[in-house]
Amino acid sequence: MMLSIIVPCYNEEAVLPETARRLAALLGELVSREKLSGDSHVVFVDDGSRDQTWSIIESLARDAPVYRGLKLSRNRSHQNALLAGLQHAQGDITISVDADLQDDLSAIEAMVDAHAAGADIVYGVRKRRDRDSFFKRASAEAYYRLLARFGLEVVFNHADYRLMSRRALAALARFGESNLFLRGIIPQLGFPSAIVYYDRAERFAGESKYPLRKMLAFAWQGISSFSAAPLHLVTGLGLLVSLGSMGFSAWALWVWLFTEHAVPGWTSTVVPLVFLGGVQLLSIGILGEYVAKIYSETKRRPAYFLEKQIGFSQAFKDTDKSS
Ligand code: UDP
Ligand code: MG
Repeated sequence: MMLSIIVPCYNEEAVLPETARRLAALLGELVSREKLSGDSHVVFVDDGSRDQTWSIIESLARDAPVYRGLKLSRNRSHQNALLAGLQHAQGDITISVDADLQDDLSAIEAMVDAHAAGADIVYGVRKRRDRDSFFKRASAEAYYRLLARFGLEVVFNHADYRLMSRRALAALARFGESNLFLRGIIPQLGFPSAIVYYDRAERFAGESKYPLRKMLAFAWQGISSFSAAPLHLVTGLGLLVSLGSMGFSAWALWVWLFTEHAVPGWTSTVVPLVFLGGVQLLSIGILGEYVAKIYSETKRRPAYFLEKQIGFSQAFKDTDKSS
């Protein structure tokens, strides 16, 4: 059983040597206990880092065959870096893990065991989030609930720490989306799956590569890539407002026809005007979000380009996800 551990890295020079050391030690131990074959390895995917990340990867790969590296031609985001790693992994199974050692590495053995027991996909799920800031915890949990409400199948408190078998990866390769939200797609694959719980630690060193802005963009990506619920919401709102304004018009007409005090009303003209204008703008805005999504999907742009590689037995061409 050959395992490829996939580690996306963006400006991770501060943690990379330690991460590499720990992963290699763990692999060594699992190999000696005959849970994995000796050619199991770690694949670092450099997501266009601006610091020393790639030279660290290169020197690691030169010194020991357990390390391999892929370098993307520029920063393409965590999800695309992960995809690049998964698509070029040669192991019988892959496990994806962040570079910052927040995910407890001892869960890897539990994942391998769950795979041996028959699971094609093993999800790593955080037990508690008390190491995260209050804001991150509350917003993340509210977000998972919202996704479930919108009809997405997501695994609660699971990020991108997971094991996948060859055939699960082959199934993933057939999704041609360019708006990637892996944790929404993977439950759609089916196959026997299992969950492994772990404690999430603080980042070992360096700072988060996911500032609030990126996080919000990613959150919206998750919703709009999988759910038309916001569109339905707007339709419902539009319907409600239309009904309301019909009633309002009927009343205004009645006042004008049957009463004496039909003042040429400024308020009754301006208020509905402004209100309707607002609702319409909102609706158009949300429609536009989806049109933008269609636009970017129909372009079928490749998700990434490989610039360099090291440690692999075969030379990859400058591939995109159709590889
Ligand atoms: N990452 C990446 N590309 C990016 C941003 C992040 O490959 O554009 C990697 C990063 O190196 C790390 C993982 O994604 O291995 C998760 O990022 P981070 O730990 O900063 O996110 P957080 O845990 O704060 O949500
Ligand atoms: Mg992190």
